Order: sequence, then C-alpha cells, then structure tokens
Amino acid sequence: MAGVPLHIAFDDTDSRLGRCTTHLAFKVARQLKESGARLLDYPLLIRLNPNVPWKTRGNGAVCIRVSVKDPDKVMDFVTDAVEQGSAIGSGANPGVAFFQGSEIPDALQQFSSAAMCDVLSRKMAQKVAESCGIRYHTFGNGQGLVGSVGAMGCLLKADHTFELIAYRKQENCGSLRQVDEGRVIDFSKKTFPYTFNNYDQNHRRVLIAPHGPDPVFIGVRGESPEIVSSCLPMLEIVEELEGWTVFRSNQGTNMHLLNELDLRCIKAYTAGFVRCRVKSAPYAMQGGHVLFTVEQQGSEMPAAVYEPTGLANVAASLEPGDLIEIGVGVRKGTTRHPKILNIEYLNVLEIASCYNLLNPVCKECGKRMKSEGKNKGYQCDRCKHREPNAQKIQVPKQRNLKTGLYVPTPKAHRHLTKPMQRYGLEKSDWKIAGGGFSGYYPIEPPICGL
Ligand code: ATP
Repeated sequence: MAGVPLHIAFDDTDSRLGRCTTHLAFKVARQLKESGARLLDYPLLIRLNPNVPWKTRGNGAVCIRVSVKDPDKVMDFVTDAVEQGSAIGSGANPGVAFFQGSEIPDALQQFSSAAMCDVLSRKMAQKVAESCGIRYHTFGNGQGLVGSVGAMGCLLKADHTFELIAYRKQENCGSLRQVDEGRVIDFSKKTFPYTFNNYDQNHRRVLIAPHGPDPVFIGVRGESPEIVSSCLPMLEIVEELEGWTVFRSNQGTNMHLLNELDLRCIKAYTAGFVRCRVKSAPYAMQGGHVLFTVEQQGSEMPAAVYEPTGLANVAASLEPGDLIEIGVGVRKGTTRHPKILNIEYLNVLEIASCYNLLNPVCKECGKRMKSEGKNKGYQCDRCKHREPNAQKIQVPKQRNLKTGLYVPTPKAHRHLTKPMQRYGLEKSDWKIAGGGFSGYYPIEPPICGL
C-alpha cells in the first residue's frame, strides 16, 4: 500500500522549568523513521513572531512531513508523545496538529505568514484548522495550536537555512558542556560564509552551545545539511550523545521582517520594516541605549537601539533628515512611555546634509564675532568691528556615518536575524528532484545520527 502524506506539527511543549520542543521532534522523527515512515522533508524548525509576550525563549515550533501507511495510528502515537513529552502543568500549553494531503492549503500558508509578524489568537488558529480539515489536540490553555498551525503552513519554498542540533544523554543534562573553543573558531573559519553564528569574534564567545540544563548539546547553523553536519567530526566532541538531527529552518532569514509597517496604524508586538526619516537628534540613555524619533509620511514614533546590539554608535551618528530603513519589533506602550520601535537592523539609505549655525567671522581681523542680542547684530571682541545686520552662518557638518546596512553583533542576534554574511546567499527555491510532493524533500533525508 502506498503511503499517505501526513503533516505533523507541534508547539509549546516546554516551559522555563524544562523540556525542549526540538528534542521531542527529534525523538518523534526517530520513532517514525524506525516504524517505517518516509520523511518527505527535513524536520522543520520554524521560528514565529519573536515579539509575542508569552513565548518561553525563541518562539520555535516544529513540523514533520512524512509518508505513512497508517495515519490514524501515527496520529495517536504523536498525540501521546506530545502529551507525555510536554511540561503540562508547569507552563507548557501544547498544541499538536495533523493534516493529510499533498498540497498545503493557501489559508494555512497565509496563517503561517501572519504568525511570523503578528499576534494571532487561538480562535483564529482553530478556525483555520477547521476550515482546512486539520485534526488537532490541545492541552493546558491550548495556545500551542497557534504555533503548530503556523509551523505546518510554512513551506520554506524560498530562503531557508539548516541547523544540526545534537542532543545529550539524559544522564549528562545539567553538567558542563565540553566544547573546544579553538575547534569552534577553526570550524567557523573553514566553513565561512556557509555556517553562521558559531562564534562571536567581538566578544570572544562560543555561540553553538547553550548553558542551561536542557538536552541540546550544540546547535550549528548554516546553508546546507552537509555543511552543518560537518561540525561533528571537526569539533571532535568527546561527550557521548543521544543523537542529532538536521532541521530545515527559517532561522537567519529575517522572515519576520518582510512586511512594511505603517506608523499610522502600527500594533504592539508586531514585526516588520519601516522606511522613514530621522526626525529628532538621537540621544544616549543610561546603559548606552540610543533613542530618537522617526517620521514616515507625517506620522512620528520613537525608535530605540539597545546597547548589546553594538549598533548604538551608528544610531548616535544619525541626524535629522537621514533616510533609513529599520527592521523593528514594536514594544507595547505603557502609561509611562508610548509604543517604541525596537530596532533589529539599520540600513542607512541617504545621509542628509547637516549644518552647524555659527556666528559670522569678523571681516577686519578674522575672529568669530559675538552676538549683540536678538536681531542686534554682531561685534568683534578683538577689534570692536560691528555688523548690525549680520546673521548666523551655516557651516556644513562633517558626517562620520556611511550609507549601508548595519546588523547587530552575533551575540545579540535573535534566531530569525539574518547575519551579514547571509546577504547575497539567500535561496530562492527548495529543489525538488521529482515525486508528487511539491516543495518537499523527495528522498529520505539523512536526518538522524543514531
Ligand atoms: P522554545 O523556543 O524553547 O521552543 P518558545 O519560545 O517556542 O520555546 P513556547 O513555549 O513554544 O515558547 O511558547 C510560544 C507560544 O506562543 C506558543 O503557545 C505558540 O503557539 C504561541 N505563538 C507563537 N506564535 C504566535 C503568534 N504569532 N501569535 C500568538 N501566539 C503565538
């Protein structure tokens, strides 16, 4: 009997106290593979709107697309695995969704696009799930359904990246991860520009290994499954691992910043980009953060660049009139401050001519004159020459800012932030070598290092 395409997605299985959604995906994919399912794509790790206030960490959800003989049996198994493998009762509100068919409905794809940059309700997720014939189960308050449906609708037909995630054995979780810094630097250099965010050169910091008690040993991101898998021999890991998976992902693609936002009707917690002019001169706040006002077609809003991004110096060099494009997340307004655009990248498009207004220079002796009072002209201190009708003069300001793109230092990247080295490497398709599943990997991907 030929297999049936089944799309499985789940989210919100972890809490701050433990568990990990990608680890659960690794275990489910392994189990499915062992029981004869054929993977139609790499397991997907989809990052959704990073500004939703109730996310645990990186707002990640997963989707596994398989061809199976007995979909009902698989759905029961996965529902069980999600229920058993989630931190229900201590903060997780899982949702698991299933769709059978070879074409993902448009409504599902649209929901997914919106989930990248907007805040969506459980009701909206239920509605789209029901209209598309998706079977789903929720636990806790069920918020996880939004992420599940969002991940399922994300086909990653255009730009995408890969991440190899290696998992620790249970007995090692909580102990220090032994990752050789020199080897990480070496790996990073050898695979540049095809892997990213392995190491923050500016802060001399290894970025591939988390620090918490979770089961992730390392996560290595890059442009192809082969290049990210090559980290395993190159890093010479000594710890015995549970296994590893290569996920296909929207990480490092700026997928959340694709839509242009309109300052007249901007909503809290949304993400996108704004083309605007700098309206007020930037000022540095305590902690090194820089705040300024921007204007887009007559509407104004404050914008902030935070010190850890490493972009505060650039922001401080802006002047009123500069034309910029900024990638932003919208911080909610409170009684103390209005909504603020939190800047994620800064593209300086046009540098305005700026002038300092200075007192005129004395025609007799060349010294800068002193004002005699409002509209009373100027007098030279030295030779006493007076000019009753003289005005202030405009002297062009030296601008030490260059047009171009500025992105945060790697340590401050969000999962979705596109690193500088990826500009120009964006993919425009996902190769299909044949078979009936448009957009899906047609052959068995080498996913599990078991
Ligand atoms: P981790 O990165 O460790 O997997 P997380 O940051 O993904 O954790 P979750 O526990 O998955 O955090 O919580 C995120 C919650 O937000 C989920 O319930 C998810 O369904 C929901 N969510 C995701 N995107 C949106 C969105 N655009 N609008 C509303 N809710 C969303």
